[in-house]
Formats: sequence, structure tokens, C-alpha cells
Amino acid sequence: MTNIFEHTRASWVRYSDYEWRTAENGKDYLLPAKDAQPKPYDPMEDADNLVLAAADIGLMLFHKNSEKAIKAAMQAFACKYGLLGIMTAMPTTAKFIEYEKVYFHKNQIIPTETMDTEDYISLFFPFRKPDFHKKGVESVWNTNDRMEIALVMTYKMEPQAMVMSFMRDYGEQYDWLASVFRDWAFTLVTATLYEIDRDRLDDMTLEIYRKGMAAFEGNTPTYHLELREYPTLVWDFHSLLLNVQLLFSMTLTDEKNPLKICHQCQRPFIAGKADAEYCSPACREQHKKEKGKK
Ligand SMILES: [Zn+2]
Repeated sequence: MTNIFEHTRASWVRYSDYEWRTAENGKDYLLPAKDAQPKPYDPMEDADNLVLAAADIGLMLFHKNSEKAIKAAMQAFACKYGLLGIMTAMPTTAKFIEYEKVYFHKNQIIPTETMDTEDYISLFFPFRKPDFHKKGVESVWNTNDRMEIALVMTYKMEPQAMVMSFMRDYGEQYDWLASVFRDWAFTLVTATLYEIDRDRLDDMTLEIYRKGMAAFEGNTPTYHLELREYPTLVWDFHSLLLNVQLLFSMTLTDEKNPLKICHQCQRPFIAGKADAEYCSPACREQHKKEKGKK
């Protein structure tokens, strides 16, 4: 396959540290820690590990690990990759600030079709609201923080909402993160069970698996054209969420090296060949041993 995602603009920001804080509405938010420093990076550089880290958290949710353990894993994920950018991923366009209102894709996080832009942005700033005001399609946003201004300059070609999601006071609710990670894991588990059971289950049961897989709907990232040496198609993700979602979909459906769950340790891995069942020789040996005992 030619790599259709060869050209991407996938720069994202992670802070050096994140923490959980409970907002007035009683909800827990993950956001940059007080003195943490932001740093841009390219999520596509270490794409396999990014997908695996996301799948790992999803499986923890799927297997109902304790909330404490899941929160610690989400925090570690954020320290490595940043927050997901849910604010820009849910609306029908990442440039929603340029419109009068925000319109949403169908999703489980914001269960409404449309919302006032300022109200929507406020959801993601539970402790200190940005100095942002909107009148019709016009908007004003002020920031005095030196570091924030530097980020605005760095990402001046990107939608304003994306840059806002790099601000120190931007946070994401535990329930939202859990919903996104769980969806990814659900799809991965469905694919795994389907592979294991395909030959011995009746058609009706297999149809349930197929429906489960079809329930996965990705928002499509946008793209633009650039004149480099030749006209070049460049993908814009505008959020880590869309970036991971697309990488996840591509890896899961990869014919040669698909994303799978190890039949022994139940952890996600990228298979060396399509019919691999174990993440490592050690897991294969262990499985044989345990089977021999039975
Ligand atoms: Zn394993």
C-alpha cells in the first residue's frame, strides 16, 4: 500500500506534567500541572507506541480496573502525548470559532446538536475561563501569558480552537476521556473475539460482532493541498484524538501487521504477521504450559 498518510501536519503539544483536579461541578479534570512546561512534538514519529498506549488504557477500562489505576494511566499518557484535544475533535469543523454556533458530530460526550460557542469553550476551562468573547462570527481572544503567546505564534496557521486546547487552563473530564478510550478498546476486543470465534459460532452471533465493529465511526480529519516540489496532499488532524483514531483504524485493519490483543497476557500488540496470537515468545510458551496443565 502506498502510505496515503505520508504527509501529515500532526504537531501536538504536551506539558511536562499533568494533574487531576476536581471542578465545582464535582467532575474530575486532567490538566497541565502548575509549573509544567509545554513542548510541541510530532505524534506520527512514534505512531505504534501511541496507538498501543491508547489501547492499553481502553482495555483497562474494558476490564474494569480501578478508577485510581486508570487515572494514573491517563496521567502518564498525557505526560507522554498531551491531552486528546476533545474540544476541536467533536464539532463538525475544527474552525468552529469562525461560525456563529458550534455544531457537533453525533457523539457520547456532547449529547446535543448545537451549542453557544462561549458555553462550549467554557466546558473545557473548568477553573479559569479564557478571555474570549464572541459576537456573531467575530471573536476576540486575549492572552498575556508569555508562554501562551509563544504557542499562539507557533500555531498561527492552525484553527484558533486547537491553540486554545494547548493553554494551561484547558482540561479534559475523566468521563470524556474514559468514553473515548473505551470506544477504541471495544472495537479492538470485538476484532479479537471475532478472530477467535469466527469458525465455531453461528451466523447470528457473528452478526452481533459485525454490528459492534460497524458502530465505530470516525470523524474524518481534513486535508489541504500544498505546492511543494509537486502538488502534495497534507492531512490535518487538529486534535490528538483524530490522529490516534485514524492511526488506530489503519493499524487494526492492516493486513500485514495488525493491532491485536495477546491471547495470553491480554495486552495490545502490533503483530509481526497477520495470524500471530501472542505478543512475545514468552507469552506463547506460557500459554502452551498452561494449556498442558489443563
Ligand atoms: Zn502477551
